Amino acid sequence: MAGSRKAVDEAVAMLEAGEMPPWKVEGYLIEVHGLAPPEQFGLAAEARRQWIAKRTGIEFRHIAIPETPYKVRYVCEHDRTTFELDAADTDKRCTLCRGALKPADSSAERYAPLVNNYVGGTEDYYSFAGSIRLTGDCDGEFQILLQYGTGLGPIGVCRGCHMINRFGGARVKVGQRASASRCVGLIFGKEEERERALKVIGGAMGSLEDRLRKILGKWDGQPATVEFFRADDPHSFFLFVEFTADFVNYRGHGAISQAVGAVKELVDAELRKHSIEVEVSAIAQGYDGDLKPSPRNKRGRYAAAEVHVPLASFGKYFECSAERLLSFVRLDASGVEKMGWFHHTGMGGEIIAGMYKATKVNPHSPLVSSLERIYAGVEGDELVYGVELPNVEAGTLSCSEGLIPPPGREALRIMGIDTAREFAACLAAQVLAGEFNLSLEIARERLYRPRQD
Ligand SMILES: [Zn+2]
Repeated sequence: MAGSRKAVDEAVAMLEAGEMPPWKVEGYLIEVHGLAPPEQFGLAAEARRQWIAKRTGIEFRHIAIPETPYKVRYVCEHDRTTFELDAADTDKRCTLCRGALKPADSSAERYAPLVNNYVGGTEDYYSFAGSIRLTGDCDGEFQILLQYGTGLGPIGVCRGCHMINRFGGARVKVGQRASASRCVGLIFGKEEERERALKVIGGAMGSLEDRLRKILGKWDGQPATVEFFRADDPHSFFLFVEFTADFVNYRGHGAISQAVGAVKELVDAELRKHSIEVEVSAIAQGYDGDLKPSPRNKRGRYAAAEVHVPLASFGKYFECSAERLLSFVRLDASGVEKMGWFHHTGMGGEIIAGMYKATKVNPHSPLVSSLERIYAGVEGDELVYGVELPNVEAGTLSCSEGLIPPPGREALRIMGIDTAREFAACLAAQVLAGEFNLSLEIARERLYRPRQD
């Protein structure tokens, strides 16, 4: 026991001194301290937790490590399927035939980490995904935790953070406020009725905005824009009246829904007062961007992050020419375009989801926020590589709009994220780190190579 404490202490000291990357702790414990699998997994996680706590001043409490933090490989002898189970899983039967599973082999090889860079978590697994320095609209260093899942993702993002910090950190641009939108939709049988309604609603706008302001104020929100849009089909005349509101730290989706619901009542009363014949009056979610990734989504906050690398040191540091990286980005952008998608999206769909899962902030489904665009080019004597996230939705406050469970709040504290703006900035920087590392690895042909089994 004393031996393992010493091993952990020494690993923490090496992490602190920058003498070992965090994903090499398991190997170090075996090679240098002679630990036998699966002993090293829990101790490596413990070392990374202590190191992060020293950097942040925040202890891990709600994000716990179970007694057996590793997975074990099994095989079903009946149908030859293989399974990798969390060692804590008591159901050692095959999912297909319900027959008993046998350990795949007797060697130490049957054990593996739950996820790379594991730092805790029982139902979901947390990985340390790097320390990233931000400059620009948000300043500071953030210790990022992701629930990324299996694979090399957390190591790739961690490496990306290291490279970006080496060149001055991620330069971020983040909106002060985030938007939420909700739309009142009206159907008329006659065009003249629609035009009369348009005038009546326009005339009542002052009282509609007062109503909006009163409800939104409870959530630090304020009315932002109103947009009228006409559409037709063979049988009807449609009118969309869309309201957007701005929020600072709440996501605002519940607030705008309540507020526009109240506005709709006023609109209905005005139309009745003026004897305007309306066939249907409803909240028109089809037009308000509800969970639709769109280049003109009216929800969320804009965030971008980029890294600048002097062209003179690019080839030497990255072992890949800047031209080759730029060509690869162009190739990928062209592929995305041919698929008919409007943005050059990449692995953001995984990293963004991983950060929402880790922090458990609202929204839990990051569909809108996962829209991403990658850009790269030369500016003066530097290569600029960046990502844009046009619609980051995040409410970092635990509130009626979205409860954040204790491990999620703890993850936010450890990461150093207080505000929704910092959340969006870190999200963009993490996506930048992951994409930049991945683009480089592919451009220099280190990924997707046949394994030497
Ligand atoms: Zn089976």
